[in-house]
Amino acid sequence: MRTQVAIIGSGPSGLLLGQLLSDAGVDNIILERSSKAHVLERIRAGVLEEGTCRLLDQAGAGERMHREGLPHDGFDLTFDGKRHRIDLRDLTGGRRVMVYGQTEVTKDLMDRREATGGKTFYEAADVEPHDFAGERPCLTFRHGGVEHRLDCDFIAGCDGYHGASRKAVPKDAIRLFERVYPFGWLGVIADVPPVNHELIYSNHPRGFALCSMRSHTRSRYYVQVALDEKVEDWSDERFWDEIRRRLPQGTAEAMTTGPSIEKSIAPLRSFVAEPMRFGRMFLVGDAAHIVPPTGAKGLNLAASDVHYLFEGLREFYSEGSSAGVDVYSARALSRVWKAERFSWWMTSLMHLFPDNGDFGQRIQEAELEYLVGSRAASTALAENYVGLPY
Ligand SMILES: Cc1cc2nc3c(=O)[nH]c(=O)nc-3n(C[C@H](O)[C@H](O)[C@H](O)COP(=O)(O)OP(=O)(O)OC[C@H]3O[C@@H](n4cnc5c(N)ncnc54)[C@H](O)[C@@H]3O)c2cc1C
Repeated sequence: MRTQVAIIGSGPSGLLLGQLLSDAGVDNIILERSSKAHVLERIRAGVLEEGTCRLLDQAGAGERMHREGLPHDGFDLTFDGKRHRIDLRDLTGGRRVMVYGQTEVTKDLMDRREATGGKTFYEAADVEPHDFAGERPCLTFRHGGVEHRLDCDFIAGCDGYHGASRKAVPKDAIRLFERVYPFGWLGVIADVPPVNHELIYSNHPRGFALCSMRSHTRSRYYVQVALDEKVEDWSDERFWDEIRRRLPQGTAEAMTTGPSIEKSIAPLRSFVAEPMRFGRMFLVGDAAHIVPPTGAKGLNLAASDVHYLFEGLREFYSEGSSAGVDVYSARALSRVWKAERFSWWMTSLMHLFPDNGDFGQRIQEAELEYLVGSRAASTALAENYVGLPY
């Protein structure tokens, strides 16, 4: 088998890259370890930057997002019992974010791929990249019990943090940067109306809480928990009690509760692999970097990587120039590190750390007061939240 670009992984980065390439006439095949149903069941990100929406439009997969997604012009920060609105639109000259679940993004991209005849091997086992240091890379994998070899010009490793692409890179060719946080997020989805029409990020002496949503009738709520907490120990009742305690009184009283339809604990991590190109193989999205979800940047960073790589590959195939692919890693990493900084900063500002103590809590509150009281500080937060330009 042969293709121009072999893509490992059918998460948002693999599907988006594949669609942009197909639409530009560049042949590509996606190899995905899991079944299509499994990929579609995963519940993850929900806040899209304008750049991500633009790329989904470019890939012809934005129609339902514009119909069903919820554009947000701001969000609230709460601390010391009070709520303060960050007006994204006003602070950024008219920019906003779109609340639309990653599950829906994935479904729209899969539907579009199917409609345009893109080839995907689901349940592809033992995917392994070979010879990417030279001019003729290839992948081997098993599908339906049969061994396959896929020859290609380039390999795009869009296979997430636990994927095969980064693991195939020789240890002395890659540098890893990591910070693991001493807590996780316990997340719940429930079919109840959201407590507010915009997100609420709460700093509280008991720990962080986030009120988010997927639609006008489906809420997504999180509370910070210790790493050794177990989901089984969190009844719905305990969860609702805890999140209410971390919100200002009026907000807590206005919250509608109900049975959860999903409940899970996710650890928080910052991680970057440098570089993001190894000969003819590129790392894209979570394969190269992870951010804690506090700034809603994970999926959006995957999208900006795709943009840079797609531009490079398009230039390669349409103009015969490798200039774009040569600068992919440097361009992507420059934006990645800024988003890493923002996500780390927002995580540090909003969460209870084991060694914070009362002093640390007061310092966070002082910074939050400065943030909501200074237009310059609010603007810095807003322009990072809506996404740095690319
Ligand atoms: C539990 C959880 C919650 C999250 N919540 C948020 C959030 O609220 N906000 C936010 O912005 N971000 C969030 N994220 C991050 C966001 O979901 C990711 O940044 C985004 O999914 C990255 O997309 P990706 O395509 O690069 O990787 P992925 O979505 O991880 O896709 C990788 C794909 O590759 C496949 N794959 C893996 N290994 C192989 C292999 N060996 N062979 C073939 N295929 C393989 C996987 O099955 C998967 O389909 C969350 C992530 C997790 C795990």
